[in-house]
Amino acid sequence: MLSKKENLQKNNYYKLLENKLGFIFCELIEANDKQFKIGIIDADLLDQGTKHPNLALLKISGYCKEFRHSVKLICDYSEIADKLKEDIYDFLIMSKVFNFTKIPAVIQKRIDNKEIIIGGTGFYGMDSPDLPDKIEHHMPDYELYTDFISSQTDNFTKNVIRYEDYLNYSIGFTTRGCFRKCSYCVNRKYDRVIKHSPISEFLDPKRRGIYLWDDNFMASPDFYTILDALIATGKPFQFRQGLDIRLMTADKAERLAKVKYKGDFIFAFDHIEDAEKISNSLKIWKKYYKKSTKLYVLTGYDSQDERDIENTFERIKIIMEHGCLPYIMRYEDYKESKYKSMYIQLARWCNQPNFLKKKSFRQYCKANEEYHLTHTNIIKGYCSCYKAMIDFEMEFPEIAKKYYDLRFEEINQYKSK
Ligand code: SF4
Repeated sequence: MLSKKENLQKNNYYKLLENKLGFIFCELIEANDKQFKIGIIDADLLDQGTKHPNLALLKISGYCKEFRHSVKLICDYSEIADKLKEDIYDFLIMSKVFNFTKIPAVIQKRIDNKEIIIGGTGFYGMDSPDLPDKIEHHMPDYELYTDFISSQTDNFTKNVIRYEDYLNYSIGFTTRGCFRKCSYCVNRKYDRVIKHSPISEFLDPKRRGIYLWDDNFMASPDFYTILDALIATGKPFQFRQGLDIRLMTADKAERLAKVKYKGDFIFAFDHIEDAEKISNSLKIWKKYYKKSTKLYVLTGYDSQDERDIENTFERIKIIMEHGCLPYIMRYEDYKESKYKSMYIQLARWCNQPNFLKKKSFRQYCKANEEYHLTHTNIIKGYCSCYKAMIDFEMEFPEIAKKYYDLRFEEINQYKSK
């Protein structure tokens, strides 16, 4: 249990956190000869689940364990919702990455009462306070989620693949920041790309590969030295954010094409205004790299109308012409669109490469309708996919004429003859 003095310090910590300072927390953790009980809450995990561990929480856990405190991941809100149980923990620390993640009212009340330390972009957006340096640059505790995963996988015997990112990869940022300041991005607080962590800071040699969460690695002045350091680990690695293909040069393409990369290279094509630049960059890239390449296509952000659907189709077309695969990302405002169903169908068509490579958008929708007719008992009306396609075509025949029948095999300029 915390003493009176420590409680006072803790309360000060909450106030200081609001001023973006966290060093008093570090003072408490480091100076005390007691063993604190620290409960860690990954709000995104407890709401809808996530594919990745929360890196900030891994680092907080690693840091606290270094000073011999006991750390436990809270696997169910009921563990901390009950008044009688709340004193089990000296500190409760919660992080949330996504602003749409829901928190139960009883827990929110505890946050409002400053009984839980909170952090992360899901709470603060781009003003999210940075972790104190000592924590930010601490080796992540990759064991934090082990009990949780064990409980979800019947002691690592079922569905383990779902937790691959938690179990098999070292995770970190070799650089931070970006100069582009896209309006939808939480990285707008930076002006440039700076070196962040050496790989040794987060590399667990027992783990199979490395996942990098850099914001804009392609813009890093240390691009080549970091790449050399990654290659020297001998492990496959992958940048998880879409790489900025607008910054591709022949030198960068040649170097990247030779590395031991995990999975497909993924770039971003967010704005139709960049069409010419991205086409030129893809030409450079394809000269050096012949394997599969994906590009994220952001939709529903600039607008949610027929113009956005049209420019989504145009970006898909450019990507296919270069023998690459689009991956549709839907900004949440798409849900308010009159053409919501078109966004869904475009994502279903593009995000499953087997469909995209073999069928035009029209063929894909027709195949859905045929399946609907033969496999369901519902005889009234068209399936939602076919209906979205014909409704949009009736309203905008010119857009449909231009894009509905494009086939990957026919427009891919890089297909082997
Ligand atoms: S380029 Fe990427 S990292 Fe940079 S501001 Fe835009 S979305 Fe964010």
